[in-house]
Amino acid sequence: MTVAGAGALGLASALALADAGCAVTVCDPANAPQASSVAAGMLAPVFEAALDDGTAGDLDLLLAARNLWPALAQRAGVALDRSGTVAAGGEAWLALIRARLAGLGMRGADMPRAMLEEMAPGVAPGLEGVLVREDWRLEPRPALAALRAAAEAAGVVFRTEAADGRGEADWLVVASGAGQGLAGVAPELSTLTPIKGQILAFLAERGGRMSLRGEACYAVPGADGLAVGATMEAGRNDTAIDPASLQPLVEAAGRLFPGLADATFAISAGVRAATADGLPMVGPSQASGVILAVGARRNGWLLAPLVARVATACVTGADSGPYAARLDPGRFGAARERTTAP
Ligand SMILES: Cc1cc2nc3c(=O)[nH]c(=O)nc-3n(C[C@H](O)[C@H](O)[C@H](O)COP(=O)(O)OP(=O)(O)OC[C@H]3O[C@@H](n4cnc5c(N)ncnc54)[C@H](O)[C@@H]3O)c2cc1C
Repeated sequence: MTVAGAGALGLASALALADAGCAVTVCDPANAPQASSVAAGMLAPVFEAALDDGTAGDLDLLLAARNLWPALAQRAGVALDRSGTVAAGGEAWLALIRARLAGLGMRGADMPRAMLEEMAPGVAPGLEGVLVREDWRLEPRPALAALRAAAEAAGVVFRTEAADGRGEADWLVVASGAGQGLAGVAPELSTLTPIKGQILAFLAERGGRMSLRGEACYAVPGADGLAVGATMEAGRNDTAIDPASLQPLVEAAGRLFPGLADATFAISAGVRAATADGLPMVGPSQASGVILAVGARRNGWLLAPLVARVATACVTGADSGPYAARLDPGRFGAARERTTAP
């Protein structure tokens, strides 16, 4: 079978399919997958549900995806940072955060100022913290390399070329992100909305040991310094760097860490693909023999093991688990014939 796309969703799916006994070829024309490699790598079910409008109702699904990560990380040799994430802000904003967490049935732990300063040196005076242990993180580029290496060791073949259809393959798994090259094969792709994201990397700053959520940005310490993100530019399907549009993000970074106000940074951009309800489309396309694994919006890394499980079950007939129906491409109402195994 062919997997189109070597981002987080394509690689996790290819590895799961190979582990299920399938002969897999992954095609991707790019050297670096766009969204997966520029992402912050947060595996953040709780703060995504608390802060991202429209995601609150999916906390159970996001947590279930996160719970699949330890096994995938062990299988592929991906390092997980499970130390948690801190909401850092003023009194009023943290009161809002506590209320949203309570609305989700979750609870954070108030972090004493001294501990916040120890975990996040340079954090702005006057800010307090609320720690959520449920939200984890990985380093995207090493994780991509590890997933690819594990897939290769499991027999997956990689080709640096675009897939233009199912060809002779028994199945085509479409994990092409925001790419529209396969829309003629899988018409559902044309319903995806691109959302450009620009993210800053303060190369000389460490920012401490913990991922932080601030009022209008997040700050994540990583291998390349402190990553601060990210813009959400709906309808934009380009990765052009636009420094003028980043002023609000730079100001938000400076409110979290005053030392960042005058610091230099690098900028990266990627394009997320989003469905109308914010959850990915994973399952049979209306095209015969085509499985969709696209549209993970802000949470592609978080959702990758769940997407892989569901996509693999579509091929093997194994149990796809309790969340498959909520990811089924058919939920958007198109009455159509379902794909059957070719
Ligand atoms: C700035 C930013 C920050 C983010 N932060 C986070 C985060 O902290 N946590 C999180 O969970 N998510 C985050 N995301 C979202 C996450 O990056 C995406 O949801 C995820 O990477 C999508 O993975 P993917 O495999 O679907 O797509 P991609 O990573 O875009 O990969 C798709 C691949 O398909 C290839 N392709 C396209 N067309 C074809 C074709 N015809 N044939 C073969 N290959 C093809 C492309 O070359 C590309 O490599 C962030 C995104 C951005 C932009």
